[in-house]
Parts: sequence; structure tokens; C-alpha cells
Amino acid sequence: MNIFYYDIAVGLPIRQCFTYKSNNDIKKGTRVIVPFGNKTLVGIVVKKLSKTKSLEGLKDIISIPDDCACFDKSIFETILWAADYYHHPIGEVFLSFIPTLLRKKNDKIISTSNGESEYGINKDDKNFKLTKEQSVNLSKLNKIEKFSPSLIYGVTGSGKTEIYLQLAEKFLKENKSILILVPEINLIPQLLKRLKNRFKGEIGIYHSRQTPNQRLRVWLGSKFGEIKVVVGTRSSVLIPLKNLGAIIIDEEHDHSYKQADGFRFSGKDLAIKRAQLEKIPVFLGSATPSLQTLKLVKDKKYKKFDLLRRVDGKKPPKLIPLDISDSPLLGGLAVQTIGIIETAINRGEQVLIFINRRGFAPLYECDNCGWVAKCSSCESNLVFHKSKNRLICHKCESVYAVNDNCPDCQSIEISTFGTGTERVEEVLRSTFKKAPIIRMDYDSTRLKGSIEAIYEKANESKEAILVGTQMLSKGHDFPKVTLCVILNADGGLLSPEINAVEKISQQLIQVSGRAGRNNNLAKVVIQTRYPNDLNLKQIKTGDYQLVADQCLKNNKAIGMPPYSTISMLRATSPNHQSCHKFLEKVSNLLDNKKSITIIGPLPSIPLKIKGNTRNHLIIKTNTKTYLNKVLKFLTNEIQAWPETKKVKWSYDIDPHDMS
Ligand code: ADP
Ligand code: ZN
Ligand code: ZN
Repeated sequence: MNIFYYDIAVGLPIRQCFTYKSNNDIKKGTRVIVPFGNKTLVGIVVKKLSKTKSLEGLKDIISIPDDCACFDKSIFETILWAADYYHHPIGEVFLSFIPTLLRKKNDKIISTSNGESEYGINKDDKNFKLTKEQSVNLSKLNKIEKFSPSLIYGVTGSGKTEIYLQLAEKFLKENKSILILVPEINLIPQLLKRLKNRFKGEIGIYHSRQTPNQRLRVWLGSKFGEIKVVVGTRSSVLIPLKNLGAIIIDEEHDHSYKQADGFRFSGKDLAIKRAQLEKIPVFLGSATPSLQTLKLVKDKKYKKFDLLRRVDGKKPPKLIPLDISDSPLLGGLAVQTIGIIETAINRGEQVLIFINRRGFAPLYECDNCGWVAKCSSCESNLVFHKSKNRLICHKCESVYAVNDNCPDCQSIEISTFGTGTERVEEVLRSTFKKAPIIRMDYDSTRLKGSIEAIYEKANESKEAILVGTQMLSKGHDFPKVTLCVILNADGGLLSPEINAVEKISQQLIQVSGRAGRNNNLAKVVIQTRYPNDLNLKQIKTGDYQLVADQCLKNNKAIGMPPYSTISMLRATSPNHQSCHKFLEKVSNLLDNKKSITIIGPLPSIPLKIKGNTRNHLIIKTNTKTYLNKVLKFLTNEIQAWPETKKVKWSYDIDPHDMS
């Protein structure tokens, strides 16, 4: 009888595979059950070995649960690439791209099912003529058959989504499937609606707020061709799709494509890698493309397709900085702003108000002794949530009862300072008694169906005011809005972060896309104490390409991304000293390496989360290849250090948030 040897990846934080034997010939990418210590685990076959160094103690694979491989070739290769690029434990990478039910030992197995579906087109939904820009670009995009990243740079309302629909139609007609990625769960319902109106056939959705069974069903359905259109967030990027025709990445600039903790991958970069390995087109859409993408266009690695006019022929709204240096603010709103809102409401129009913070007030403080409510396990002030009558830590979500007395001096004189969405909502309610006020933030959209309810309310109301965090600025379509107000743009304009200008210009221009879809008089008011700020003056033109070109120039001059590569080594420990010393040791180790800049160790912000101190080191190199080499060397060294018993460490490759 033949004996085969396999390298198996298991879902543990270990950067290596383990060798097992079996009498069966097993394909790469197949799930297997293996003994591990005194447990049995689900593992993935990574490699078939022709021989092994030592047969001693080699254990047998216990069983092979599925009828076929879990990961097809290109997805398998994408995962190997990701584990290498992000320097993340390989088993964890594999298992993060299958439904939770398949990560565990249970009776759920992968086995061929009902066969493929056919998709029809609903012609009634397409009863308009494409604009010239749309049809010129679409006919070019339709011709792309191989891997070739295409940026669809289209101002909001220019008909990008219509282009996605028609591209999807083309692939479905060729009996291929299509994957559409969006940055946030909240953006799924409106796209889903448009896809359902257009296509007869199941539209699969895949994201982290579904039940394990829902996810498994969609995953299996798409693997075997029952589902040919999938809309999902970053976690869906490697969903198996039979005969995949193309991947569309909507709002490609959005930072939510990057996972912020654990396996910190970029769903966008993985999608592009997947498309490259599958040799299929990938379409990136945005009104405010990332600098990274724009540089790749300049380097002729990506093609750009412009949609510079709105479908309705209306001009984009004006961005108007409103100087509030001498205005007292009521719930974050200047008197002039309230006047402008009133005018719009009296005309029966809708208004959007943006504020970057949820809750009522970010500071809960004793007037007598200056005590401030803080989270007991994070170094973070508690935010007062009036609607819940609770103090909440926005770092760890711990909830505290509101104290009526100061715990330090027993005074009852406690005040709240600063403004969040709830306070703005309260001020608006007392000022505009008749107009419905609709709040859209993390707290108001957590329940299933809440985002649909918000759309419905906005749709059926005449005048109305929507108040929300940046969540409201992303890709949403509120057709009756004619005025947007941004309450605290100054935070972004003055931020010392290196990509601050890119971020704030994207945010302001995205916000402006929410206004005036149906109105030539639409405007965006930006409350600021710095109306003469140079960046603001440029952003005010509404010409994103202009701002982005300037950002690219600046970043080139100072050698920052996309003209260099940055990664962070993040460390956390209950002991502050251990954390800092560990990173100092890393820094010393890299000291004599060429062409590498090390910054830190620096305290992360906030310094403490859930009782652990957080520090980081910034590592900058000129090329990704060199960075990869350096980090491999580093990983090999660090893994053997005794310090790692006290310090948890991980890499953050291409970080968006450097604090
Ligand atoms: P974007 O995704 O760029 O914001 P959409 O594709 O959502 O733009 O288009 C904006 C609105 O215009 C949608 O309601 C869409 O149905 C409609 N639309 C798109 N293309 C056309 C067209 N050629 N003629 C008329 N209406 C269109
Ligand atoms: Zn006090
Ligand atoms: Zn906390």
C-alpha cells in the first residue's frame, strides 16, 4: 500500500505546517482532520511531500471529510501569497476564508449539490439610454478579458453602479459568475436592491453579520454554481465562485477594506491578487481613488476610465467653508449653520449633518475637582450616551453606569463636554420641531433591518434631517438631500497623520456626493476655524484629481507611500516595560540594515486597551520585496526570543491607521 506525506496547516497562531501521513492521495487545499497534541483539529493540505526527513513519530491523518478540495487552485495560491505578504500564521489565513462551520469538526461537509443556475435579465429595469461617457467606457471595459486592473474614476451620480450592472450582465451571459465587493455591510442593501431589480436569479450576500448557516449556504451555493452573483464585504474576497468572470471593487479608496485587527489584510489587495491568479479583469470604482491606485495608473499598471459628469447633467454641489471662529456653538452647530438648515427645511428639502463622533458627549467631567470618567481597562475617556444613560468606552465597548456623584470629591456638579451625534440630534429636535430627525451611526444601525428602515424613513419624508458619523458619507444614496453640513472638518485638516490630506479630501468630496442629486442649488457647508487653510482651498474646488496630484507630489518628495512601503510592528503586554524593551531590541536588531528607516518604539493611541500597554515600531523601506525580506529575517529572530512569552506581537503591513 502506498503511503503519502503531507504538510498540513492548522488554525493556530503558528507560522509553520506539520507533516502527517496517509494512505490516501489527497489534493492540495483539501480539509483533513488531524491529531494535534491531545486534540484533533481541522487542517488544510498545503503540500504533498515526496519524502520526509524523518518518519519517526509521524501521525496519520484521521479523516478526509469532504468530497472535494475546499480551496481551488487560484484561491489556494492567493492564500499562500497572503500568508507570505502579511507574515501571518498560515493556518489562520486559510481558515479565515471559509465559513465558521467548516472551521470546526462537525457534520458539515463540502459535497456537490443541485447544479448550476441560469440568470435572466429584467429588461424593464433598463429602460434608459446610457450617457455618452457611460457607453464609451462600457464598450472599452467590455473588451477586457484578461487580468488588467481598471480604475473607474467616476464622480458620484455619474452612473458607475449602472456600469457594474451592465458588466455583470455581460459575464452572466457568458455563463460566468461575478463578485462585487463593498467596504461596509451598510452598503449592501441598496446595491442588493439594484441587483435584484436587474437580474432574475439568486444574489448571494456574504458578510460577518450573517448567521453561520447563512454563510455556509451562500459559500456552498457559489462554489457549485447555484449562485453566480455575490455581494460582500472584505471577508467574501476569497469566496469560491464557479467560473468567476470578474471582480468589482466598489469605493476602492475606502479604508474599511483593511481589517483592523487579527489578520490585518486588505480585501482590496487580495481581490487584485486573486484576479491576477485567475487571469480575470478586476474593476475598481471610486469618485476619490486612493493615492496607491492613482500612482499605479501613472505607472501604467492600471488603466483609468473617467466618468466626469453626472447622469442627470447637474453640476456637483458647491463646497462652502463657513468661518465659525467667532461663533458660539450649540451642540456643535454655529448660529449661521442653523439658519442655513432652516432655509432648506422650509423649502421642504432634506439635510445631512456629519459629525465624527457617536454618543452624546466625549467628556464626562467633575466641575469641582476635574475628575474625568475613564475606562478602567483602557486609557480612554468614557463617552456619555444619553439615549442609553450609560458611559461607554469606544475602545473596548465596556459599559458603565452613570454616576451622579464624583467618585473623587462627591460633588454632584458633573458636566458633559464636546459633541457627538446624540447631542446634535437633541439640539436639532428642539430647534426643528416638525422635521423628522434621523440618526445614523454605529449605535442606530446595529440591529438587522435598521439601515433599510432609515432609507425608508428618508424616502417617505419630505423635509428631514439626517445626522450621522462618516458612515453616512459612504456611497449612500439619499436623493432628496440638498444640503450637507460638516461640523468638525478641522480635526482632519489639522491632523498630523501623514495621509491626513488624502483622508479629509476623500471624506469631504464623498460627502458632497450625497447632496444635490436632484437639485442645482445643492451645497455643502464646512464649519471651520481655518477658512484660509491651503488644503481646504484646494479641496473646495471639488476637483479630487487636483488634490490627489498634489498629495502624490508631496509624498514623493518626502518618500512616503505610495513611494515607499511602510509596515508596523505592534506589541502589547500587561507590562509596559516589557513591551517597550521588546521593541527596542527589535529596533537594535535592524539598526545596521541598509535602506531601512525605523521610527520608534512609540506609544500607540490609546496607550492601553483592555489592561494591555500598546507600543509600535514603524519600519519603512523603498520596496515591498525588500520589506518582505527584512520581515522574514525579523520573524525568524523574534520567534526564538524569551521575551515573546510576555509580549504579544504582530505586523501591520500597509497600515492605514498609524497611531
Ligand atoms: P454612481 O454609482 O456613479 O453614483 P449610479 O449608477 O447610482 O451612479 O447612477 C445614479 C442614478 O442615475 C441611479 O438612480 C441610476 O439608476 C440612474 N442612472 C444611471 N445611468 C443612467 C442613465 N444613463 N440614464 C438615466 N439614469 C441613469
Ligand atoms: Zn470631583
Ligand atoms: Zn475600554
